[in-house]
Amino acid sequence: MDGDTREAVAERAGRRCEYCLLKEDDDVDFFHVEHVIARKHGGSDDPSNLAFACQYCNLHKGPNLSGIDPEGDPQTAVRLFNPRVDTWGEHFYFDGPSILGASPVGRATVACLNMNSDQRQTIRRLYGYTDAFE
Ligand SMILES: [Zn+2]
Repeated sequence: MDGDTREAVAERAGRRCEYCLLKEDDDVDFFHVEHVIARKHGGSDDPSNLAFACQYCNLHKGPNLSGIDPEGDPQTAVRLFNPRVDTWGEHFYFDGPSILGASPVGRATVACLNMNSDQRQTIRRLYGYTDAFE
């Protein structure tokens, strides 16, 4: 992936993680350009399959395409949030410094990406990413 592509993906995302909405400037780690559909599942390098993500979300997502909705059938896989086709606010919302799922897709993604660890909630609290923030 060339630098122009990385820059275009970062700009398209407003330099925020497309999963947890953290701004790159508010994290100590460089953000990743990640494959929504991982290469191992045939995902391409086309910008339509790329998303800007904080390292935390990207590393927890890994090559996963699906997860389990903690409020749903534990035997049924649910696809993960896809920033290229889904709208954040239809699948997630803030509750204080927590990000909660508003749909099976949102809940499965929150669980798979472990979005509400103490460390991530501390960062959100520190930088004001709460239910007062959109
Ligand atoms: Zn993130």
